[in-house]
Amino acid sequence: MEGDGMVKLFQRSESERGVCYLNYIGDGDSSTFLSISACHPYGENVPLSKVECVGHVQKRMGSRLPKLKIYGSKKLYDNKTISGKGRLTDNIIDQLSVFYDNAIRQHSNSVKDMTNAVWAIYFHKRSTDNEPLHGFFPAGETSWCKYNQAVSKGTAETFRHKNSLPPAVMDAIKPIFNSLSHPELLNRYLGAYTQNTNESLNSVIWQICPKISDSGRRIAEIAAYESVVRFNEGRLGRLNIMKELELCISNNAISSHKKVDIRRVKQGDRRAQQNTIEKRRERRRAKALVESKFSKKEGLTYEAGGF
Ligand SMILES: [Zn+2]
Repeated sequence: MEGDGMVKLFQRSESERGVCYLNYIGDGDSSTFLSISACHPYGENVPLSKVECVGHVQKRMGSRLPKLKIYGSKKLYDNKTISGKGRLTDNIIDQLSVFYDNAIRQHSNSVKDMTNAVWAIYFHKRSTDNEPLHGFFPAGETSWCKYNQAVSKGTAETFRHKNSLPPAVMDAIKPIFNSLSHPELLNRYLGAYTQNTNESLNSVIWQICPKISDSGRRIAEIAAYESVVRFNEGRLGRLNIMKELELCISNNAISSHKKVDIRRVKQGDRRAQQNTIEKRRERRRAKALVESKFSKKEGLTYEAGGF
């Protein structure tokens, strides 16, 4: 269904808007993109590319690693199971997902840098005091690699690897690192695009006509129109609709709508500042961690967004 709608949007973009959409930003699901490119909206010679939404990066690692639990009680070659203390626990899965997310976001202008950063996670997790694996990473005192720093200061002897995972576990998760560092995939993260703006338009629509209330097509349409007006012109845009309807517009209406718009812009500016973005991400991570602990305790009855 989503695919059909998208195909329509692409097919009418040239005639109705005078533009071609060459990049499609999406999340992991590729069926929509496949149906768009199959219909060649701008002719066979104009290829479309899929750009991966950087907002869904973390999920890639976070959904692949838990699948390794199918190893279950089967023993790896070191005669221990894949999970358990000091092995692939839920906390480690969360941690690796966050690291992967950072590796992509912080190097989003170079596939090579992204690749290095992803493998840096792997080799750092695999490094032990007996077998340090930091050879791929920058040397010198200013290196971000703490071990290489220690080497250049001559203190490598006393350096301790604290958070390593056993080689058997690292071997088991290596295929995931292989596929999640594939250049074809990383290429799609270049530029760190997100579908956030679309999703926030959606959230305005859902605010006006909540999914849980039973609203018909007409209500949904009005909600969509109202959201677009708000998005493009702010609350003041509503006054034009009132004018169109020949409603009387009071000074109060104008000033109160203005106030709401100013507040919204201020809020947006504040949220867009890098440090608040980082803080928010941290808060979200902390929250996700709490939620995952909760769901472990409560079983399936508690699930974020489950109701
Ligand atoms: Zn290192």
